[in-house]
Amino acid sequence: MAVTVGVLSDTRRQTLEEICDTFAPSLQDGGDFFARCASDLGVAAQIEGLLAQTALPEDIEALGQLLDAIAAQGFGAADLDGRTALLHAIADSSPEAKLGIRQLRAMTFLFFYGLPDEAGQNPNWEGIGYPGPLSPPPTPEQAPKTIRVESLAGETATLEADVCVVGSGAGGGVIAAELARAGRSVLVLEMGGYRNESDFRQLELPGMFELYLGGGLAASEGGEIAVLAGSTLGGGTVVNYMNCIRTPQPIREEWARMGVEGIDEPAYEEHIDAVWRRLGVNDTATSQNRIHKRLIAACDELGYPHRPLTRNADTSCEDPGTCGYCYTGCQKGCKQSTMKTFLQDAADDGARFVVGARAERILTSDGRASGVAATVTNADGTTTALTVNAPTVVLAAGSIESPALLLRSGIGGPAAGRHLRLHPAALVGGIYETPIEGWIGQIQSALSDRFKQIEGDFGFLIEATTIAPAIVAMSLPFEDGAGHKRAMAKLPHMAPFISVARDHGEGQVAIDEHGRAVTRWSFADPVDESMFRRAIVELARLQKAAGANEIITFFQRPAISWREGEDFDAFLSQIEAASLGANDIAAFSAHQMGSCRMGADPAESVADGRGELHDTPGVWVGDASAFPTAPGVNPMISIMSLAHRTAGNILAG
Ligand SMILES: Cc1cc2nc3c(=O)[nH]c(=O)nc-3n(C[C@H](O)[C@H](O)[C@H](O)COP(=O)(O)OP(=O)(O)OC[C@H]3O[C@@H](n4cnc5c(N)ncnc54)[C@H](O)[C@@H]3O)c2cc1C
Repeated sequence: MAVTVGVLSDTRRQTLEEICDTFAPSLQDGGDFFARCASDLGVAAQIEGLLAQTALPEDIEALGQLLDAIAAQGFGAADLDGRTALLHAIADSSPEAKLGIRQLRAMTFLFFYGLPDEAGQNPNWEGIGYPGPLSPPPTPEQAPKTIRVESLAGETATLEADVCVVGSGAGGGVIAAELARAGRSVLVLEMGGYRNESDFRQLELPGMFELYLGGGLAASEGGEIAVLAGSTLGGGTVVNYMNCIRTPQPIREEWARMGVEGIDEPAYEEHIDAVWRRLGVNDTATSQNRIHKRLIAACDELGYPHRPLTRNADTSCEDPGTCGYCYTGCQKGCKQSTMKTFLQDAADDGARFVVGARAERILTSDGRASGVAATVTNADGTTTALTVNAPTVVLAAGSIESPALLLRSGIGGPAAGRHLRLHPAALVGGIYETPIEGWIGQIQSALSDRFKQIEGDFGFLIEATTIAPAIVAMSLPFEDGAGHKRAMAKLPHMAPFISVARDHGEGQVAIDEHGRAVTRWSFADPVDESMFRRAIVELARLQKAAGANEIITFFQRPAISWREGEDFDAFLSQIEAASLGANDIAAFSAHQMGSCRMGADPAESVADGRGELHDTPGVWVGDASAFPTAPGVNPMISIMSLAHRTAGNILAG
């Protein structure tokens, strides 16, 4: 990424450079990796470039004021220890300062460990034992793009359709396919680009910027939780881990009680079966990498149940060696995302697609849907104000952007944006004596549901994830630059286990004065807090049972970790006592749901039991935002089967 426009004064730029070199400093002992500092890679300039491209002037000014405040403390004149202590003291001075310092740290490590050079390599990878990309993408000739996208030009354009689907992820893809198959003229608007196998370079940083919402840096307003969601043709299904789980019957019964008609009945199985079949879900292509072998050994040791995953992977994929990189897209094309399945079906049945198309507002006439107003960023960088005239609009922009679109449009009623569920995930890393090389093999291939019901109907699943160096670096505790580098040098030996909890409480999506989505969420609900803490404890126990000789939690400071020979119970007590406040722990959400939920009560839900808005006929909710509550299992299959049913309701009129 090149710096195109300077947005900081020279003084602020210098302070930023000094801060980056405090997080990633040059150290005397330990070789090239330890000697290399952030400035050697031009990290501050990269951060300034990112701000220039993505931040509003007031956000840049707020950061500038934080830089001024840091400089005013004599930061520039202090030595490394003094600078580190100053950053901690400023972070402790207010929640806003803590958020700002954490964001600066995250951006520093994002570029320090993620930025590739022209050869697609980062010099730090050798020092942390990370190989970088294992294989080049196929050429465009070997992997042609088979979905035709519309090209627009000029300041304005108008398109007509029976149905306009906003968003092309798990929900939008299924509805587009079903309606196109039934002969409706379908137009899909997708904010992200169209990228396929030939674009997937196994590079973490470009992959995040190109394929994820907010460039992979989206988070709740106060920094309480990172929000990972796909933003590309195919949405989250292009970057996800292919873990396919049918909607549990108790959840279907709960949703039926809340007004989702028929979902608890046997006939609903047809919708699940239909998407299961189209995705080719199977367990024959499932294999266990070293992380999962450790997880399974731990479950066996502790007597916990576990099972291999069923996944939407093409069974012809015989070599899972490079699957650990598929969070930046599957180079081989074996991930059966909506791009490879439902969207392709829709295109084959005549659906049209506009990518780079951000829906700004849903248009109405006489209280009914009449279309969508969108801003399209064309391939040459120009923009076109697009009006789509369509009597049916399907909202499928994901559970952060769908409610924002309703709120910008002034429709959806009092529940729009409320009841957001995030399936908060905790991460605990085990460091093992023998190499794990966690980037090799399938990202998710086994789970244990031992803790699925520890608070009534609420609990968490135990799963695992891949090793992506920049994300690990951004999430690790930070006491000082030397300790952080030492922790990163253990990367090849790290196995990350995760928990995925069923939310008891809820968050909210609002919009700011520019109409941008703002996610509000915290551990305010005592059940959510106690489940998350328990999850960290149980993940730590599993790591110990699997033979880890060091266990790392992701409390930010003080770092809470355990080494062989230390008192394990004292370590667990520290976890029990530590803060889960904003920016005190790295928490993640890869499952956003429920923010435009279905239900019988218009005061408490956005859409009726069929999926159509209570207050605006012709607008239907087609994505995870329609969930009445959290399902407590990885949601893709639930989203798709509900969307499959909603498509039938749209056709039935
Ligand atoms: C890293 C990761 C791993 C995951 N692993 C799994 C897994 O193994 N199993 C599982 O079940 N689930 C998994 N998930 C979750 C699953 O992928 C998502 O829950 C699912 O994709 C959500 O579907 P959706 O239709 O609600 O929205 P999305 O799939 O997020 O699609 C929404 C689309 O709308 C677009 N959009 C947003 N705003 C606008 C706008 N204003 N105008 C036009 N377009 C817009 C976005 O760019 C996006 O492409 C994972 C998610 C992530 C991020």
